[in-house]
Amino acid sequence: MSRERKTPRAGGTRTRAVHGAGQPRPGEVNAPLVRSATFGFESLAAMNAEQARGRDSAYYQRVAHPTVRSCERHLAELEGAEDALLFASGMAAVTAWLFSQLSSGDHVVALDQSYGGTHEALRWGSERFGWRVTFVDARRPADWAAVFTASTKIFHVESPTNPMNFVVDIAAAAELAHARGARLSVDNTFASPIGQRPLALGADLAVYSATKSIGGHSDLVAGVVSGQAALIESVWKVRKIFGAIAAPEVAALIARSLKTLPLRVAAMNATALELARWLETRAGVLSVSYPGLASHVGHAVAARQMALGFGPIVAFEVAGAGEGARRTVEALELVRHAPSLGSVESLASLPAHTSHIQLGPEGRARAGIPEGLIRLSVGLEDAEDLRRDLDQALARALVPNAAAAR
Ligand code: PLP
Repeated sequence: MSRERKTPRAGGTRTRAVHGAGQPRPGEVNAPLVRSATFGFESLAAMNAEQARGRDSAYYQRVAHPTVRSCERHLAELEGAEDALLFASGMAAVTAWLFSQLSSGDHVVALDQSYGGTHEALRWGSERFGWRVTFVDARRPADWAAVFTASTKIFHVESPTNPMNFVVDIAAAAELAHARGARLSVDNTFASPIGQRPLALGADLAVYSATKSIGGHSDLVAGVVSGQAALIESVWKVRKIFGAIAAPEVAALIARSLKTLPLRVAAMNATALELARWLETRAGVLSVSYPGLASHVGHAVAARQMALGFGPIVAFEVAGAGEGARRTVEALELVRHAPSLGSVESLASLPAHTSHIQLGPEGRARAGIPEGLIRLSVGLEDAEDLRRDLDQALARALVPNAAAAR
């Protein structure tokens, strides 16, 4: 009797995270890590047939690759997407999407609050390639419709936004874009593919820095797009041209990470909520921006569209503006002062010097990002240890006598 079986497609999020698109039985439990850059063929006809398989092919690594493809299937399965693609970085994914859709003269609408790299790419592309970009404020959805034109091809949003956690109603944004003949892309990096499902809410494309929660261990840089197969095909062509495919080793690491993604996201989100509530009560903390807080303007929408909690990022502003924020992150002992987010270890950074440095003080003011803001990415440590570290850092950094006594 054959022991071959079909991979079970159904199952809950945790089951699909562990098994993904699955490996046929009997055989290895994990997808094999194939390092080969190129593949050999018996005949020209066989090679041509493999080339024709495009992003499913095992012909030449820049075009497509078995380990990468297996991970892409796993990602698509997890998100409920028709297809997904893995890139060498989040910015490679974002820019491949833009290049796949925009020609000279086309228009794109994006948020003032867009990740700094995305902001820079959009402005650079408008200078170099002649597309036009209009930035809108994530906090003022009533103003968005007016900026769309007949040549608007993409409405690109993030939700929650980096770093302030402003929330976009994704279903409403999709309706707006589609009514004006544009496509909606959602940078879903903060929530992760299991924390929020933009495609199910009407978006055409979800995009990720997989460097963050998807990889989750601060040991790789990668990006993902997911969506309908026809759209993914057009993005794949750009990936092939620019050569921005993820390396096989990175794909294998991501496949490993996906198995624990639901557990990691749920745990980080729970600790983030606990810390956000606690930070609201601390002297020296001027404001806390976290969508899980009832005080947050986007709380109701976030509760509706985020499945596993409100994300791992707590943004808070401390007294003393940029200088107070610098002293606070430098006083942390357990939380690492480092850019990036979504990893197992908690990280704190100053967006004015990292994720949104490209915006400059004026751009940050326009986007509502205070100079004294600290972006805390909550990891998997015990909440009590994180609270104690933040407590001592705030006390040392913001109480003048204590700071002087250091
Ligand atoms: N999108 C968001 C929301 C990000 O935070 C980042 C990086 O911080 C990126 C995209 C770019 O990703 P990468 O650094 O992997 O290129």
